[in-house]
Amino acid sequence: TPLASLSDDDLAGFLAEQQSAYEALKARGLKLDLTRGKPSAAQLDLSDDLLHLPTTTKDRAGVDVRNYGGLEGLPELREMFAELLWVEPSQVVAGGNSSLTMMYSTIVDFLLFGGVESPRPWSQEEKVRFICPVPGYDRHFSMLASFGIEMVTVDMHEDGPDIAAVEALVKDDPSVKGIWIVPTYANPSGAVVSQEIAARLAAMPTAAPDFTIFWDNAYAFHHLTEDEAKSADILSLAAASGHPNRPIMFASTSKITFAGAGVAVLAASQANVTWYLGHLAMGSIGPDKVNHLRHVEFFRDADGVRAHMRKHREIIAPKFAAVDEALTSGLAGLEVAEWSHPTGGYFVNLDVLDGTASRVVALAKEAGIALTPAGASFPLGQDPRDRNIRLAPTFPVLDEVRTAMAGVATCVALAAAEKLTQDRAARV
Ligand code: PMP
Repeated sequence: TPLASLSDDDLAGFLAEQQSAYEALKARGLKLDLTRGKPSAAQLDLSDDLLHLPTTTKDRAGVDVRNYGGLEGLPELREMFAELLWVEPSQVVAGGNSSLTMMYSTIVDFLLFGGVESPRPWSQEEKVRFICPVPGYDRHFSMLASFGIEMVTVDMHEDGPDIAAVEALVKDDPSVKGIWIVPTYANPSGAVVSQEIAARLAAMPTAAPDFTIFWDNAYAFHHLTEDEAKSADILSLAAASGHPNRPIMFASTSKITFAGAGVAVLAASQANVTWYLGHLAMGSIGPDKVNHLRHVEFFRDADGVRAHMRKHREIIAPKFAAVDEALTSGLAGLEVAEWSHPTGGYFVNLDVLDGTASRVVALAKEAGIALTPAGASFPLGQDPRDRNIRLAPTFPVLDEVRTAMAGVATCVALAAAEKLTQDRAARV
């Protein structure tokens, strides 16, 4: 039965039950961490052959990868990513180990120099605003905050951002310069942007001529089921609707090979690639081509990447199932929480009773279960409804995920019972 429909006596009984379950949980002295979307040791082990590669020092064309040069990255690696991302090899830049760094330097270039379509550098605008679908990736938001870029939120739905809200925001306001989109298995909701919404993002009229879609495809290949979602081809859609320079795409192998030693890529129109490389050339003589080459040797081709991702899936899909089982067994029918059932990516989005997310996270912490801070998936860490919690089950081993999530379910139920009890007392 829904918790809210219990009689006062039954609610008091439920509260007492949850309090003793919580005391028992605390007594276990757990020390578990579900805070960040990191690959587990078993996942990292899948790529250990990289530690013995490359076996040669020359690329396909005979260029010595140990030396300077090749700012745009190793041609064969760019080809591999081009196939995976449905773009042309010439549209791909392969860089260092972090796509977040590429996003950061792209925005810095917009601020300092302006982009291909910019009337002036963004730093010379009176105000720069970005549309932020929420819940979203916390590091996207903290990056914008660090630049003093204002964030305007729109809701993230199961098929992408609230597109009508986005269209309305960009239409008349030239200070709206960008939007973050994690198109495939979004962080944290798991949503996949539909073809239709991608097409509208690509085609919509914008007051700012240099409005840019930051298409962060960090989880493009990170399927959890056999039903492998395909990302919309945003570069072609944008080019076809006359806005070839609107999207800039990012991806990396951080959650494919080594999170700390993978390869990141940027993909965009030819003009945008030239623009990006022009600025990059002032700060680099070339990327780590040895790392590029060992990734090419390791995967061989795009199919090698796809096969490798199925091994990840075998390791992490049971952890996502464990999250669902624990939440279902602890909370089903109470109507105090809803959670996502992602078919890919790294997160489960948990929405608890309004006004209880911070309490749940605090209760969990006291019981030795570290969760991402409540509100982390919102700009400035502020969830207006205090209900959103991001769960990251990939890093702990399966048994720990089970234990931690059973504990989380207890915290959710306890916080909800406390809240309803307080609300009723306040009403009398
Ligand atoms: N984008 C998203 C949406 C992410 O979730 C993450 C990792 N948590 C990143 C980017 C970071 O990518 P990278 O390791 O390539 O910097």
